Amino acid sequence: MAGELLVTQDAGVTREVSVGFSVRFGGAQPVVIAGPCSVESEEQIVETAEAVRAAGALMLRGGAFKPRTSPYSFQGLGPEGLRLLARARAETGLPVVTEVLDPADMALVAEYADMLQIGARNMQNYSLLRAAGRSGRPVLLKRGPGATLDEWMSAAEYLLAEGNPDVVLCERGIRSFEPHTRYTLDLASALAAKQRTHLPVIADPSHGTGRRELVAAMSRAAIGAGLDGLILEVHPSPDASVSDAAQTLSTAEFAALMRSLLIAPATDDLVALRGAIDAVDEALLGLIAHRMALSDRVGAAKRRLDLAVHQVERETAILGRLREKAPPLLPPDGVARIWDAILAVSRAAQAAAAEESA
Ligand code: PEP
Ligand code: MN
Repeated sequence: MAGELLVTQDAGVTREVSVGFSVRFGGAQPVVIAGPCSVESEEQIVETAEAVRAAGALMLRGGAFKPRTSPYSFQGLGPEGLRLLARARAETGLPVVTEVLDPADMALVAEYADMLQIGARNMQNYSLLRAAGRSGRPVLLKRGPGATLDEWMSAAEYLLAEGNPDVVLCERGIRSFEPHTRYTLDLASALAAKQRTHLPVIADPSHGTGRRELVAAMSRAAIGAGLDGLILEVHPSPDASVSDAAQTLSTAEFAALMRSLLIAPATDDLVALRGAIDAVDEALLGLIAHRMALSDRVGAAKRRLDLAVHQVERETAILGRLREKAPPLLPPDGVARIWDAILAVSRAAQAAAAEESA
């Protein structure tokens, strides 16, 4: 069968996976899924859903059936948890992903969820995979903490072989020798999975680190590496979470992370939109500072070569190239006005430096 596997068809060319009407994994924008580890109450899930939506999350997560290491730990609210998730979806419009643990619950979970999660512990539960493949719902397939890339691909093949093309892979950390982190988020294998398949791949830095202080930076690493999204644990009072408190972000921490990822909030709320603009302005300032530092060295090179500060040909070439690339919301003369200002400030700085060194 090797070479004929569905999972390796069009390897490296990501095919989009849609969830609901609004969410597309593998498109131009990364998809961020956020919500609590466990659904705890109506108030908790609705408050979280509203907060993560305002910050830019496109989907809500929340466990109703929880796979707990100890049989004595909270096992989830079960069917009541599914109803609360549907409530939060009705309030916010966010599609919902939740874990299904047992083929016997498949029909019920598929009735409530927009996307089914196959948890890490069940990655090789082949009867569950077959049932999810026949469920008619998109599936988020987590990598088992002890699974190789090939085993993960084979698990995805079970879903595809049942005729379900809507599979998103999720790297959530593997078992390593390091006890400081709960798991080791294996971004290299997540990227390898993207190269080996056509399936979108996202990362779960919450379970992948187990430590909330590491979640934001690992999220930026995953998006910077080119993955298709994130799934993150968020709670209005993270320390009070009934499960996975240590790795759960507050709603404020989540909003700050989304701003740092430069992901636009899915809201018309003026304060949220202005927060996103402030983050973009800070990123622009950083880039302009970098440009000024390069320009300062260009100025020194011009002095060495005895060239004038104002190089008309070079500036015309810069403006021409950028005007051609003007994006739809920024007309070419808008590009010209912005770069006229940047070039004027650069020239002035070079002239001042020349004066000083004269
Ligand atoms: C979860 O996302 O709630 C979860 C239990 O994750 P994992 O299966 O990756 O441990
Ligand atoms: Mn969890």
